[in-house]
Amino acid sequence: MRLTAPLLALLTLSSAARADFGSCVSSLRSAAIAQGISASTFDRTMSGVEPDMKILELMNNQPEFKTPVWDYLATLVDDQKVAEGRAMLSRHASTLARIEQAYGVDRHAVVAVWGVESDFGALVKGGRFLPQALSTVACLGSRRRDFFKGEFMATMKIIERGDLEPEKLRGSWAGAFGHTQFMPTTYLRLAVDFDGDGRRDLVDSIPDALASTANYLKKSGWITGARWGYEVSIPDGYSGPSGRGAKQSIGFWSAKGITKVDGSALSELPNAGLLLPAGRNGPAFLVTKNFDAAYAYNAAESYALAISVLSDRLRGRPGVQGDWPTDDRGLSRAERKELQERLIRRGYDVGKPDGAIGAMTRAAIKDVEAKLGLPQTGRPGGKVFDALK
Ligand code: CA
Repeated sequence: MRLTAPLLALLTLSSAARADFGSCVSSLRSAAIAQGISASTFDRTMSGVEPDMKILELMNNQPEFKTPVWDYLATLVDDQKVAEGRAMLSRHASTLARIEQAYGVDRHAVVAVWGVESDFGALVKGGRFLPQALSTVACLGSRRRDFFKGEFMATMKIIERGDLEPEKLRGSWAGAFGHTQFMPTTYLRLAVDFDGDGRRDLVDSIPDALASTANYLKKSGWITGARWGYEVSIPDGYSGPSGRGAKQSIGFWSAKGITKVDGSALSELPNAGLLLPAGRNGPAFLVTKNFDAAYAYNAAESYALAISVLSDRLRGRPGVQGDWPTDDRGLSRAERKELQERLIRRGYDVGKPDGAIGAMTRAAIKDVEAKLGLPQTGRPGGKVFDALK
């Protein structure tokens, strides 16, 4: 029998990896003490911590499936997210007004980041114990060990300062946590105490979390009072620059024949780049530095577009008007859950229908696609959804 790499890693944990981990944690301890972290904070946090080999497996198994931008938007900017976001805008209206006053950042953008990062706090609880996760990847990870050592040290500093108790530090294996999914170094740099209790608590304080998001966007170049951009229409045979970075004045774009998506003249906007997230045959957008601020939060244009479009919808503006270059639309989270229920009715085991598409659901989609005579994509799209009605 051939052992797969993760299985091999598990079997060898008892010997070499365990010894490596132990000596690595002692060197982390010396480094932490040298950086002003007390021995008691370190020992209290790391006592009994063993490496989590499952994390090394996750680190090494990058998803092979590249999510199309229309799938990404369909799940992140669905009607449920818009409705919940509007409820949050109303529930936290006075905090958000104070945040706008203090940071000059639009409340709709702040709430959009909150919704995408942690589903308005619903995803904050649980997750992996950061000191364990980060020491595992810092000591035994296959890459970027120095980066994760830095995140581990920042985690210890957060505990040392008294911002958070160790047990609150739970998040992704790579270290993102709290309402805003900050990395620990980002937390140290940009988190703020907005409720005035003296602690920067992005796990249990919504004012701290939302103000920290606004601070992040502001520090990333947010222009107060400006829009992120808007959807546009480009003329046939357009030849000219494109890309987020190639920013030009609105006059420049007007002269190129670009209009708003409804055909009207471009309205005032700071310098903007022409974003074509799915190429020339998909929707087009002019995007300003406020789009770039969302991009800074998580370096993917599809992410920044999700934040931007969600912020518009929270304001009551329409979502994307143009057609994506596909005949197989993306599904909302409710539709993904319904797709799983339809697969279960067909006899497939996809686990609990929760709208999260994992390996079991993908395998079931592939199988049912073959039976239905559809191309085998394994992707939760509109075609397979409709065919299973
Ligand atoms: Ca606080």
